[in-house]
Amino acid sequence: MNQSKAMTSIYFDYNATTPLHPMAKNAMIEVMNICGNASSIHKHGREVRQYIESARLHVAAYFNVTPAQVVFTSGATEANNLVIKGFTGQVIVSAIEHDSVLKARDDLIICPVTSDGIIDLVTLEDLLHQVSKPCLVSIMAANNETGVLQPLEAIAEMCQRYQVLTHTDAVQVIGKCKINWQQLKFDYISISAHKMGGPQGIGALIVNPSWSLRPQMTGGGQERYFRSGTENVIGIVGFGAAIRHCQMNDWAPIVQLKNELENYMITTFPKVTIFGINVPRTPNTINLTMPGVMNTVQVMHFDLNNVSLSAGSACSSGKVKTSHVLQAMGIDKTEIETSIRLSLDLQTTTAEIQHFIHIWKDLYDRTHGGVENRSIRQ
Ligand code: PMP
Repeated sequence: MNQSKAMTSIYFDYNATTPLHPMAKNAMIEVMNICGNASSIHKHGREVRQYIESARLHVAAYFNVTPAQVVFTSGATEANNLVIKGFTGQVIVSAIEHDSVLKARDDLIICPVTSDGIIDLVTLEDLLHQVSKPCLVSIMAANNETGVLQPLEAIAEMCQRYQVLTHTDAVQVIGKCKINWQQLKFDYISISAHKMGGPQGIGALIVNPSWSLRPQMTGGGQERYFRSGTENVIGIVGFGAAIRHCQMNDWAPIVQLKNELENYMITTFPKVTIFGINVPRTPNTINLTMPGVMNTVQVMHFDLNNVSLSAGSACSSGKVKTSHVLQAMGIDKTEIETSIRLSLDLQTTTAEIQHFIHIWKDLYDRTHGGVENRSIRQ
């Protein structure tokens, strides 16, 4: 890991967005010089079409699906809306889904999660007993606030047994977790390029071609009528390069860094809670409390010290709202309001983590009556 990175500004908000990977950037720069509409049949149009189809192949290869199953969208919000709004029938979702799922329809059937943030499989099965068909079950692969991974295999098996369709918002696992998508056979998968080194404003929905979805965007019939509108070629090309490259990611050193930080925090500050600590999580996400200190104060304190992280969930207005994810896990509102989310990247260094501890400890000591005699392994 790069120890020499300057401490002037630290970014710990990689679940919100990631930096553009140089390979994605280069691929995008190349296609910026080309003029053509992929729907045109002339040479210029065909050239652009080739770029799009090559990117589609990379996305399809990641999931082991056919290129025809990849529908490019403006991101995961649109992919989630396309599948949830476009599905005709009842939709069961977990209580911890992203708002782009939870707000897509007002007739969703909500399945609770356990105190660890994992879908309650017993209740899910009860719901599947009662629900009328056709039915779609939509459960995210990993939660963006806690990093908690959902038991996709058990969900897929149960849904196949009840003959209902499956969707997963896989935004937070792409390039981070090895998942056998071919074996899981989810009918729909939502992904977003900017969470794995691609550009913002592009994503995709992987679709099961045997089922129809009502398109949300109609017009020219692009993306096999699933999503009309001239394609975002530059975005698609960057996405293709990023997804191709992220398959080589090795998160083992970051998992070690995360474990060291978590062990240090819970042994030195026994009143700190780390949500989801006992269950499988993505390699990069830590959601922890600072007892008695509002997360807004913490985020400001870190920001003043040039460290960017978030208070679990920030809405588009930039205000912090009480996390529906932690609420669904049964966490008390006062504790929720003391939690912040740290999300790391492959570039994260030991020095950055030590700096985080230093700043965290500084605020903790100021708000808890002075410096106690604690040692930090630095
Ligand atoms: N789902 C999850 C789990 C996310 O974390 C996000 C991004 N915050 C989205 C969906 C929305 O993705 P996009 O930014 O591509 O619309």
